[in-house]
Amino acid sequence: MPQHDSIVARAACGSAQLIGALPPSAGETGLCIGYSVLGRPLTVQRYGTPDAPLRVLLMCGQHGDEPAVRQALRHFCRREAERFAAKETRMQFAVLETANPDGFAARTRHNAQGIDLNRDHVWLRAPETRAVHRFIARWRPHFVVDLHNYPSRREHLVRQGLRLPWDLSIDFPTHPAARYAHGHPLLASLAESLERCAQKARFRFGRYGIHGADGSMRHGTPKPGDARNTLALKFDIPVLLIEARNPSRNDSREDRIMVRAAVEASCAAFLQWASRHAEVLTATGRENASSERVPVRYRRAGRQSVELPFVQLQSNEVCWLPCERYRPEVRGRRTRTAPAAYAVPLARRALIGFLEQHGFAYRLARPGERFVTEAAPDQGVPAPVSLPGHAIFPIHQVGGRFLMLLIEPDSRSSIMTCPEFAMPGDGAVVPVRRVLSNSSISNSEVTLND
Ligand SMILES: [Zn+2]
Repeated sequence: MPQHDSIVARAACGSAQLIGALPPSAGETGLCIGYSVLGRPLTVQRYGTPDAPLRVLLMCGQHGDEPAVRQALRHFCRREAERFAAKETRMQFAVLETANPDGFAARTRHNAQGIDLNRDHVWLRAPETRAVHRFIARWRPHFVVDLHNYPSRREHLVRQGLRLPWDLSIDFPTHPAARYAHGHPLLASLAESLERCAQKARFRFGRYGIHGADGSMRHGTPKPGDARNTLALKFDIPVLLIEARNPSRNDSREDRIMVRAAVEASCAAFLQWASRHAEVLTATGRENASSERVPVRYRRAGRQSVELPFVQLQSNEVCWLPCERYRPEVRGRRTRTAPAAYAVPLARRALIGFLEQHGFAYRLARPGERFVTEAAPDQGVPAPVSLPGHAIFPIHQVGGRFLMLLIEPDSRSSIMTCPEFAMPGDGAVVPVRRVLSNSSISNSEVTLND
């Protein structure tokens, strides 16, 4: 069942205020959106006019051991945010500086339960991740930016006298079912804006990648689980991942200042970009439609031999080295036509509770109501059946594709095989059914469980 323990700010939250009761500019006054495992508040600062049509969320500090980027974001907010908000009147933005306050206090990547919050966006096991999802579900930002630090001195590179070059790298959702996935023209225009910003502010900028000891290079994961993929899939919005180079003891003072300046300049750049694209960002319908083809399995593609830049530790100069196995793309390998709905037996309480926690809408099948469900391939046209004791989850709702990826039996990201959703004696039986049609399926008559 959903945890509503902390969505409404309580008196204990000090200066926090209730959602919807904010002054025109939040400034230093925070909005408490939930609590960490150890009871620390997660506080959002909001800037701009509350009824400005475009809403942007900047989230930082999911990993508690990345204080540098948080510091830079903080610096940007202190110095620029109010001025920026006054100028860009079509936009309001919210800043969550510390998404993992316990981790930040202890300087650990994980939260106090040992959970990596940026792998928790499907499971929502951590109260911190649940708080972020609840806030997004209510405030409905049109664009989310997730800020991190990355270690440029990977051990296997340092052994070769090298480090990764980017002061700032970015990535977009790579799951091919995301409406705004890498390669989408809107995201390409955002990348170009940041590229121009990097040229002007003279920092090194590129696409985020993970460099293996075997010389391979790949972008971030297409798996749902991190904020970038999951929030894009669940809320049908563009999400930008920012990875600023983690300053090291070995960096010069100038280098440290450079990275901080890169974060601040990019904050201004992506907010400006969002403001310029306010109409596009706010106009898009976000409901998934039944009968859409949705990629449920994928593969990495575009295998290339490329030269990529590295920094030589001795000279601090950039050199270009060949990389044989760069796979810059992810492509759908199998698509499935979205059904009208999925029917889940009510006996699957754990599964329904999990879907409720994500806020998916559903309703109960009514007595006597008939549904056409998918037949086995050799059974021809199926006869309508009644589905007593089933919850009907329509696809036509925000996050319909995410719902499909989670419970579609054919999906690579299906959660259906997880032991915690199984019932005794299940064997290989898949408990959900694809509902192809029913005249009364509609998300207008179901209750949102958020
Ligand atoms: Zn991180």
